[in-house]
Amino acid sequence: MELSSTDDEHDPEGQTTAVDRSRTEALLSGAERHLEDLDAAEQRLKEGTYGVCEVCGCEIPRARLAVRPTARTCVDHAA
Ligand SMILES: [Zn+2]
Repeated sequence: MELSSTDDEHDPEGQTTAVDRSRTEALLSGAERHLEDLDAAEQRLKEGTYGVCEVCGCEIPRARLAVRPTARTCVDHAA
């Protein structure tokens, strides 16, 4: 039964599972970062600084906020 143990190591389905897992972990960490951004945006809403560029203090254009509601800077100062 040497073949079957070799098969296990090269099981294509096992590899797919590993890829899926790392992809899911990447998605999850991205979602966590997004949640932090949302928390920060909510905090700025409370402080009345939402929609104000952190760098120059100008108003972030509404069009930019529509695309990136969690944006902290104007387009000029976007990282
Ligand atoms: Zn700015």
